[in-house]
Amino acid sequence: MKTQFLRPKDVDQAARIIRSGGLVGLPTETVYGLGTNGLNPMAVRSIFQAKGRPQDNPLILHIPDASWLELYCEDIPEAAWRLAKRFWPGPLTMVLKCRRRSQEELNQLEREPVCSKTHFGLKVIPDEVTAGLDTVGMRCPAHSICRAVIRTAGVPVAAPSGNLSGKPSPTTAQHMMDDMGGRIDAILDGGDCQVGLESTIVDLTCSPPRLLRPGGVPLEELRVVLEEIEMDPAVTRLMDEGEQPRAPGMKYRHYAPKAPVTVVRGEPMRSAQYILDHISDSYWDGVICFNEFAHWYQEHPVEKLGSSQDCWEQARRLFRALRAMDENGVKHIWAQCPDTSGMGLAVVNRLSKAAGFHIVDV
Ligand code: AMP
Ligand code: MG
Repeated sequence: MKTQFLRPKDVDQAARIIRSGGLVGLPTETVYGLGTNGLNPMAVRSIFQAKGRPQDNPLILHIPDASWLELYCEDIPEAAWRLAKRFWPGPLTMVLKCRRRSQEELNQLEREPVCSKTHFGLKVIPDEVTAGLDTVGMRCPAHSICRAVIRTAGVPVAAPSGNLSGKPSPTTAQHMMDDMGGRIDAILDGGDCQVGLESTIVDLTCSPPRLLRPGGVPLEELRVVLEEIEMDPAVTRLMDEGEQPRAPGMKYRHYAPKAPVTVVRGEPMRSAQYILDHISDSYWDGVICFNEFAHWYQEHPVEKLGSSQDCWEQARRLFRALRAMDENGVKHIWAQCPDTSGMGLAVVNRLSKAAGFHIVDV
C-alpha cells in the first residue's frame, strides 16, 4: 500500500478515507494519531494490526466538541462537564462510562452485519475500541484541522498515537511516515505538534477522579477544577509483579528507543556532572540533556531537550530527541530529567517509561 501525504486543504479526502474505514495519520496538538472510524469494528482492528499494538490496550475516541459526549457516554458526572468547559478543545482525555445498549439496539445489532450503516447509526462503540471495558476514553483535540476532519467524517475517530507499538510517539508528519509508510492509506501533514507529549488521562468513573497518565494538561491545573484527584501509582513507578494495572495499556513498555536509557534525576548541575563522570569513552554513548550542558559532552552524540527552566520546551522535544538517538545508532542513552512540577511530571513519566524505570537519583 502506498501511503499518501495529504495537505491541510485535503480535509474532505482525509474524512472520506476515515468514514469508509481507512487509516489516516492525523495531526493533533499532542502527537500525531492514527485515526479511523471509531464505530467500525473492522477498521478499528486494522489500527492494532498497523501498529502491532496489543489488543487489550484500549483506544481514545476523538470528537469535535463536548456535545458529542452524550451520544457515546452515560452517567457523565458534573466534574466532566467542568473539565470539558475549561480544557476542551485540548490535551485532556476523560475516561467515562460507555453508553449502555438498549435491548432494541442489541436486537438490531444481532440482525445487522457488523459493518452496516445501521450499526453506525446506532452510535454503539465496539469492544475493539474499549478493549471490552465498560468505559471509554474521550478527547476533543485542539488542532483545528484534526477537528475539521472529524466533523466532516461525522463519526468519532478512534486514534492511538501513530508510532509502531512501543516506540516514541511521532511529533511530525515525517516521523509518522517513518513508522507507518506502506501500512496506512494517508498522513495529513498539519505541521509539528505543539505539545509534543500525549494527552493527560483522567478516570472520572471513580471517586475521587484518578490521574491515569500525566500529559498536556498539568496536574496542578486539574486541581483548580477538581476538588480532589488521586494519582495512579503507575504514573511514577513500575508496577509490582502480579499487580493489576488500572487500565490494560499501563502495563506495556512504551516510548522506547532502540538503545537502553539511563535517566539521571536531580538538580540539573548535579545530574549533568553525574553523566559526565559515568559516561563511557565510547562515541556510542549518547546524551539527552538540557541546553545549558550540551557543550559538556562534545565527544558524544547530544540531543538538546530544551532549557532546564522550560518543561514545555522539554515536552515538545523529548520524542524527537529519542528518535534522533535511534538514527544516530547509539548503544546507550543518558538522559537528564526535570522535576515533577507542571509539565515536568509528564516529561519524567515518558522518560522513565522509555528507560524501563532505570533511574538514578543524584
Ligand atoms: P495511546 O496509547 O497513546 O494510544 O493512548 C491510549 C491510552 O488511553 C491507553 O494506553 C490507555 O492507557 C488509555 N485508555 C483508553 N481508554 C481507556 C479506558 N476506557 N480506561 C482506561 N484507560 C483508557
Ligand atoms: Mg501511544
